[in-house]
Formats: sequence, structure tokens, C-alpha cells
Amino acid sequence: MVGWLFLAHGQFCASHPWEVIVATFTLTACMLTVDPHPLGLPPGWRKNCISLEEYNAADVIVMTLIRCVAVLYSYYQFCHLQKLGSKYILGIAGLFTVFSSFVFSSSVINFLGSDISDLKDALFFFLLLIDLSKATLLAQFALSSCSQDEVKHNIARGIAMLGPTITLDTVVETLVIGVGTLSGVRRLEVLCCFACMSVIVNYIVFMTFYPAFLSLILELARSGEGGRPAWHDRSLIMKALHEEDQKPNPVVQRVKVIMSAGLMLVHAHSRWSFASEGEELPIVNLVTGDSVVITNSTQDAQIHDYIMRWLTVSADHIVILILLLALAVKFVFFEVKDELNTTRGMDGWVEVSSPVEHKFVQTDQVCWELPSSSQEPDEQPLPCDRPVQECLAICKSDAGANSLSDSEVMSLVSSGHVAAYQLEKMVGDPERGVGIRRKILTQKADLKDALDNLPYKNYDYTKVMGACCENVIGYMPVPVGVAGPLKLDGCLVYVPLATTEGCLVASTNRGSRALMRCGVTSRIVADGMTRGPVVRFPNIERASEAMLWMQAAQNFEAMKKHFDSTSRYARLSKIHIRVAGRHLFIRFVATTGDAMGMNMLSKGTEVALSFVQQMFPDMEILSLSGNFCTDKKPAAVNWIEGRGKSVVCEAVVPADVVSSVLKTSVQALVDLNITKNFYGSAIAGSVGGNNAHAANIVTAIFIATGQDPAQNVGSSNCITIMEPWGDDKKDLYVSCSMPSIEIGTVGGGTILPPQAACLDMLGVKGANAVCPGENANMLARIVCGTVLAGELSLMSALAAGHLVKSHLRHNRSSVTTSGSEPSKS
Ligand code: NAP
Repeated sequence: MVGWLFLAHGQFCASHPWEVIVATFTLTACMLTVDPHPLGLPPGWRKNCISLEEYNAADVIVMTLIRCVAVLYSYYQFCHLQKLGSKYILGIAGLFTVFSSFVFSSSVINFLGSDISDLKDALFFFLLLIDLSKATLLAQFALSSCSQDEVKHNIARGIAMLGPTITLDTVVETLVIGVGTLSGVRRLEVLCCFACMSVIVNYIVFMTFYPAFLSLILELARSGEGGRPAWHDRSLIMKALHEEDQKPNPVVQRVKVIMSAGLMLVHAHSRWSFASEGEELPIVNLVTGDSVVITNSTQDAQIHDYIMRWLTVSADHIVILILLLALAVKFVFFEVKDELNTTRGMDGWVEVSSPVEHKFVQTDQVCWELPSSSQEPDEQPLPCDRPVQECLAICKSDAGANSLSDSEVMSLVSSGHVAAYQLEKMVGDPERGVGIRRKILTQKADLKDALDNLPYKNYDYTKVMGACCENVIGYMPVPVGVAGPLKLDGCLVYVPLATTEGCLVASTNRGSRALMRCGVTSRIVADGMTRGPVVRFPNIERASEAMLWMQAAQNFEAMKKHFDSTSRYARLSKIHIRVAGRHLFIRFVATTGDAMGMNMLSKGTEVALSFVQQMFPDMEILSLSGNFCTDKKPAAVNWIEGRGKSVVCEAVVPADVVSSVLKTSVQALVDLNITKNFYGSAIAGSVGGNNAHAANIVTAIFIATGQDPAQNVGSSNCITIMEPWGDDKKDLYVSCSMPSIEIGTVGGGTILPPQAACLDMLGVKGANAVCPGENANMLARIVCGTVLAGELSLMSALAAGHLVKSHLRHNRSSVTTSGSEPSKS
């Protein structure tokens, strides 16, 4: 309930910042203008509080000490804030302090009927008691947001979390400090009175002005790019927002509540006693903090007091001024160097004296004008930027590269301190890393305009890093169309095709429509990914000896044991060895579950070969891949032996569908298939190319589903067969046989969200929990079935082409003469 109230309150402040700020200002102004009222202050205190003070040397010393401590404490707080590494937090906390002290001053002026000159002393009490840690925490909450809506939500969350603790703390502090006002020791009473006021003012400003102000300032600071807000700093999220850590200890809370109740009783009892006694209360000396009772001073005494007071104040001020100057000099000139000398000791960096964005604009060019080869890493101060060594130290410290501007990170790369490929890891924000790499590239190769249309924002690079791509500069959006439904083994599937070839999807869609009534039947006829290393022996005798050894059943079993030990899914099924002089080409064949399996094969092969080498120490492993695999190159071995999944599909298309949907005849199709896909391919010397355009469909599905697109080479091996079918040979029998579809549903690009979405669409995302390998098998069958649909449609269009030739001749404005068919084949 309490939490909800604070949440609603925070929500209100963050959502109506102007209203809350104006209201707070108005109330403050009212406090200044209303008749002074001694809230909490005994009436006698304010009666003669200003003019008649007695100068006391001891008081001056005590007050000077208090002021020095206050200044040092404030300095410490800001240094601590600096370590958070955010200029926003520093600025916001500074403004919070200024406003709080303004309200505090107003209160003191009014309550004490004082004039402003006396309040500069009271302010030191305020500085001594203000605690910026909670304000900083709330600022961190707000700054960790990615959008303005989130800012409001996070501020409300922050208030909900911090509010109850702060409220209770304020009550307890006020009551505890308030006890001091009952002490009877005049100076202590005055100090406690200031302290109470400062605590209350802090609380009021924190709960009203501050959240509203935070919300407003972040809205104003929002970057116009629509991407990451200007203030957004992931490091802040990581550093501080562990809500669990911020939750108050319930036991402590309970103790505080009990304490408050007790203290309230003490106050009630004491105040009542004071009131009944009607005791006369003292006059307050704001300079010394002392209280005196002087009623009828003469004019001379007043002048004397006045002079003494100013002398005293000046002495104080000289001490304070020296202290402030010393701290300012230390902060501005020495702080950074100190931190750099003790690199690991520093937890943060903040752009206090150098606005990063501004610097970047100024120095971006300059950084890159410095020739990287001639630069000595140790000495290259970059104009308008922090020197490279300084940046390097910051980068290595806890603050990390996140605290550096883009141009500073670029200077680290150009000076050779950081490898460009490590940018994402270095800055801890993949998108920023990619952005910086683009800047480096555009400046090096003057590619600015060229990259403008290559998107890079709003992409989950975490899945790409270390798995799918290096030196990332963006991502390539490829249109994805859908073909289908394709009726495959009784199921309807909608097939995603990523392509830039117009008509491909439309054509495949037409083929699927033609197959709707009959459906497609598919079978996996073989399964085995391959890796074919090459090894060398001193002579053919040793080579053939080794070959025979590996082919012996028991030795193969031993090799298999070693191979299989490298994976939960990869299982060696056979080896196929070819001799070439003293070389052996050993083709390892293994099932790989739902993975395409190349990495798994490489891993298993390496271990199995090491085992063989133990038997044949004179065997030289020349390469783990000796091209007998064969991966990503046209090769008869894949066509003949198969690689990955070997799939066959067939369908019998009724004659009427051939004529109505495909706009051709069975005879025309069969004739064309023989002429084109057999004679033509033979004439061309094609291996595995007895088809019209299998590669079109294979590649489009591969791109859509995160396969390795280069494997379209072997995967597109296909023989398309067409025959007249049925008793009267009027229907069309069509089949596609694809012996080497290299495909998987886990690993590689299948982990990327858009690609995984396409796999999901087909119902084959990830590993098959019940029967590992079944998802990959199903995907291979879908590929083959869709190829069949594509073959049917394109072959029909080609067969019917001469029928529409005259029509096209009169329609030349239509550039694509093959109508809705792909231009290939
Ligand atoms: P991988 O991601 O390297 O390996 C598959 C991983 O998934 C293995 O760790 C495997 O476990 C695990 N897994 C979980 N469930 C599984 C299941 N049901 N079936 C199979 N594995 C399962 O994938 P890969 O297919 O071997 O390799 C694909 C990558 O290799 C692609 O990025 C491709 O571009 C690339 N590639 C590499 C080469 C090369 O020469 N190395 C060549 C071409 C392509 P285990 O650890 O127990 O096996």
C-alpha cells in the first residue's frame, strides 16, 4: 500500500514536471512572502536574532571549522559522484543542491526574520547535512532508461523504492536532531534547529521538485535521432540499479519506527513542559551560532558589533576562500592525473571539463589526420581530446571505454592500442562499437555516403558477436516473401524465401498451388555430413598400410569412439578413403543431429586423426580439409555419395491442373524436361545440374533460415524427372532428387532472431527435443518439396513460352518477357 502510494506519487511528479516545478517555486515564493511564523522555532529565537550579536573568538574558530568541514564534505560528495562517470548525474545533483539550498535559505530567512547576509552561514549547516546519495540513485534510475516513457516509469519505480526509506529516515533524523533543541545548551539548540530544517527541506525537495526536474531535464536532453537517448548510459544500469541491494532491511526499518514513536513521546512531553513553563528563549547569533540576550544596546555598541562582525566574517571568508580555491585547483588540474597514475584505483570518469559531443565534432577529423603508422603509442596528444595515454588509462580502469567519446576510442584504435575488431567488446555496447567502426571506415576510405543506406541500429549484435560475423558494420535487410501453402506429406507449410529476384516467390507460389490437390511426398534417403582431411606418408607402402588399417572394422570402431567422444550428437557412420600417391584423402561421414554439422565434423575428425597418428607416427596431417569433403565447391563426390541430407520428393499432378494452373501440357513439360535438364545439362558438362533452378529456392530458404548460404553450391545438386503418368498417361509425374542438402536448425545463423523466426514459421526451430535430427530432416524435406514446386512452375512457364511469344512481341514495354517467372535457367 505504502509502496503503491509512493509509486503513484513518483509517477505523478515525473509525468507532470512543469506543474510540480511551478508549484514548488510558488510555494517557496509564498514562504518568502508570508508573515514569518515560528514553525518549530521558539518565538524568542527570532525576536532579536540579527543585529545584536556578541563577537566571541572561540565561536569564530568553531564556526570556521564547521564551514571547512561542510566545504570538504561537499567536495567529497561531488568527487564521489564524479566516479559514476556521468556528466548528467553531476549536473543534476548540482542543480538539486542549488535548489534545495535555495528553499532552505528561504525557509531560514522567513522563519528567523533574518536578512540574506546572515544566511550564508546557515547554508554551511545545510551543506553538512545534505546527502546526495539518494538523489544520485534516483538520477541513475532515470538515466538508465531508454525512452522518455521509461524515464517516467523508472522515476516512479525509484520513488516507490526509495520513498518509504527516505520518509522514515527523515522522520527519525528530525526527531533525533530535534532532541538537541531541548538540550538547554543554546548553541546546540540553534545548530539542531538548522539541521532539522535542512533535513526537512531536503526531503520536500527530493519528493517533489527533484523527480519532476529529473523527468523534464531528460526529456529536454533527448537526442533527436530516435535511437539511444543522449543521456543513456548502460554502465549506469550495470553499476547501480540492483533493486535488491537498495531494498531496506526490514529489521532496521522496524527499529526506526519504534525509535520514532519513542522520540515523539519525548518531544511531546518536553514541548509540553516548555510551553507550560513559558520560558523566555534566546536570541540567535547566526554568525557564531551562539545565542545571547542583549536588549538595549547603545548606538556605539551596535557600530562596534557591526565592525567586529564584518571583521570576523572576512577572516572566515578568507579561510573558506583559500580552501575552496585549493579544492577547485586540485579538482580541475590534478584529479585526473592522480587517477591516471593509479589506474586500477579509479572507478569512473566524467566529462566535467570537456563536453564530449562538442569535442567529437571538433576533433573527429583531426584524430584521423594523424598517420597511424608513424604514431608512437606513448606520445600522441590529440588536439581537443584527452591524450591517448589518458584515454588508455581510463579504458583500462573500471570506468572503461564507455567513458570515452567516440573520437577518443577511435584514437585508441588508430594508435594501435585497441584492435578494431574488438570495438564492441571494448565499449561494452555492440551497437556503439559497430557505429564507431563505421566512422573509422568512412574516414579511412571516404565511404560516408556509401554507408548511409546500410542500416546498423536496433539490431541484436550480441548474438552475432563471436558466432556469426566479425568486423560488423551493419546488417543487410533482404526482403522475405512467402510461398505456399505447400502440401508436403499431408501438412501445409508456408515457406519463407529471402530473395531480391522478382518473380521467384510468385513462381514458387504458383508451383505450390499446382501441387495443392495432389500434395508432395518426401523421403530422407541418406544422412551424413562429411569432412575430408588429407594426410601424407613417407611412401605408398605406408599409405596403403594405413588405409587398410583404418578400413578394418575394429580399427574403425576405435576411430569412431574417439570421434563420437567430441559431441553429444555427432556420430561417425563411415569413412571413405582415396589414395593419391603417398597421400590419403579420408572422407569422414557422420550424422550430426539437428546441426548442419561442419564444426562438429571438424572437431571429431581432428580427434580421430590424432588417434590414427598415434598408430602411424610417420603420418603427416597436411590439412583437416583436403577438399574431399567437399564443402562449398562443385564436386561430383557430393552428387554421387551425398552430403548432409539426401532427399527425394515426388508428386503426381493431375492433367487438368497442369493446364489450368500451369498453363501448359504434360507432354510439353516432359519434352522440355528431357531436352533441357538432360540433354542440355549433358552438353554443358553439368554435374548435379539436371534441374531448372533448384539453386534459386535453396538459396532463398537458406538465407531466410540462417543456413550457410555458401553451401548452396552442393545443396543445389538436383535431378528433376518428369514422366507422363496414369493409365492414359495424361497426368504428370514429377520428382526431385537432391543428394546433398547441407542444412541444420541449430548452430550458425539459425540463432539470429529473424532467421529463427523463419524456422519457427516452418515448425523446425532449434533442436528437436524428442528425436534429435528430425527438425533438420524436416527442413531438408521442405527445401526439396519447395524446389519441386519451383521446378514445376518455371518449367511450365518455359514450356508455354512459345505460346505467348507473339503476345509479348506486342507488349515490349513489359521488360520481363518471362512474365511472372524468374529470369534464370
Ligand atoms: P555448431 O553450432 O558449431 O555446433 C552445434 C552445437 O549445437 C553443438 O555444440 C551441439 O552440441 C549443439 N546441439 C544442441 N542440440 C543439438 C542437436 N539436437 N543436434 C545437433 N547439435 C546440437 O554447428 P555446426 O552445424 O557444427 O556448424 C555450423 C557452423 O559452421 C556454421 O556457422 C557454418 O557457417 C560453419 N561452417 C564451418 C565450417 C568449418 O569448416 N568448420 C565449414 C562450413 C561452415 P555438441 O557440442 O554436443 O556437439
